[in-house]
Amino acid sequence: MQRILAGLDVTSVGEELKQNSVLVARTMGPAELLDYDREYLVGLVLEDAGVSAHVTIIARALGLATVGGATGIIDKVQPGDLMAVNGLSGKVHMRPSDKIADIYRQKIKDQSEQSAVYEALRERPAITRDGFEVSLGMNAGLEIDLPHLQRSGATSIGLYRTELHFMISERLPRLKELQASYANVLEAAGSRPVTFRTLDIGGDKILPYLRHAHEENPALGWRAIRFALDRPAIFRTQVRALLQASGGRNLNILLPMIADIWEIEQSRELINREIAHHQKFKRQMPTQIKVGTMIEVPALIWQLEPLMKRVDFISVGTNDLLQFLFAVDRSNMNVAHRFDPLSLPFLNALAGIQKIANKHNMPVNICGEMASRPLEAMALVGLGFSSLSMAPMAIGPVKHMLLGLDANDIRHFVAQLLGDNVLNIRTALVRYAQQRHIDIVGI
Ligand code: PEP
Ligand code: MG
Repeated sequence: MQRILAGLDVTSVGEELKQNSVLVARTMGPAELLDYDREYLVGLVLEDAGVSAHVTIIARALGLATVGGATGIIDKVQPGDLMAVNGLSGKVHMRPSDKIADIYRQKIKDQSEQSAVYEALRERPAITRDGFEVSLGMNAGLEIDLPHLQRSGATSIGLYRTELHFMISERLPRLKELQASYANVLEAAGSRPVTFRTLDIGGDKILPYLRHAHEENPALGWRAIRFALDRPAIFRTQVRALLQASGGRNLNILLPMIADIWEIEQSRELINREIAHHQKFKRQMPTQIKVGTMIEVPALIWQLEPLMKRVDFISVGTNDLLQFLFAVDRSNMNVAHRFDPLSLPFLNALAGIQKIANKHNMPVNICGEMASRPLEAMALVGLGFSSLSMAPMAIGPVKHMLLGLDANDIRHFVAQLLGDNVLNIRTALVRYAQQRHIDIVGI
């Protein structure tokens, strides 16, 4: 969930940042954003970027009020202008009138009061009115995210995006550096489980120091596990670092962008080789090692039965799953918002995953941006999912929604929507929540 901010100075890329700056740019990669001084930055407005583009995911994780798709703004805004940025509604006011600025100031005040409500829920488990417990983990990827573990009340790090460390490095990180970083993450997590996703680069996540041939369709190209299996030295170094960091603790390794079973088998072979190497040097082993896969390539949905025998857990990446199911580039503003995850095809796809996972007692987590929006999270619980992982700031609003929800009732409602082939599922869910006074932020 984004913060609402107002009364900010604006600066465009290339300007020197001042206190309370909003960064306005046509487009920007995640690594570029991480170059800016976090101390001064409070907002990010981009002309070209959808809600699930990586740069916006990272910006929100950093707590910035983030708006994408602000077409033409760069030509209209001047450095030093006052801006009001509403990351929640996606609205940007340039040079707001006193009246608008006052409304925003009030919103900020309301929001900080609301934050106090969420804060009070921090230690409380997310249990629905009828006793269904939902585990709310957080997504992270940099050590600066770790303090959010305490603050947000997350019960796990459900997705640790290891590529972010690679993206902010000037060269390929070395084994020792990776090991130290993963050890810090595990140390900070304490008894909370951590799921490390192996390097998911490619698409819009580029490593500037690695030579990459130009690709016509980078989202469908040589990325994530495809790259890892073709360049096993990098993957093995990462696995070695993970093994070394997690001696005496549990290790959960998550494989990104798996499209076919053989990719899991090959990845496991490489992991096993690293385990053998680790044992040869009599290093302390992790207490247990679990290997899971992301489900973000639709082809995997039709391989779920054989998949169940080959992984220990699954994690659904709704950002890429939506991108590939609807054939919409998630970072292209002209199409990124064209299709709704709260729709028959998408919810049916998720329902199919949940059904087979449930049959096999397979732990399944949802870690895409969908889980971080309370209305969508309500639908996910309606589909039977009980583990969600999201940006830390979303945990309060999602938990707040869950405390007012009846899981059994929403399950029946969602089953009925799907059974009746209802086309406007979003509207039906909004009405459902309103009629039952379920507090949903952002609708
Ligand atoms: C996803 O695709 O939903 C996901 C969680 O991974 P990423 O956003 O890093 O691609
Ligand atoms: Mg993904």
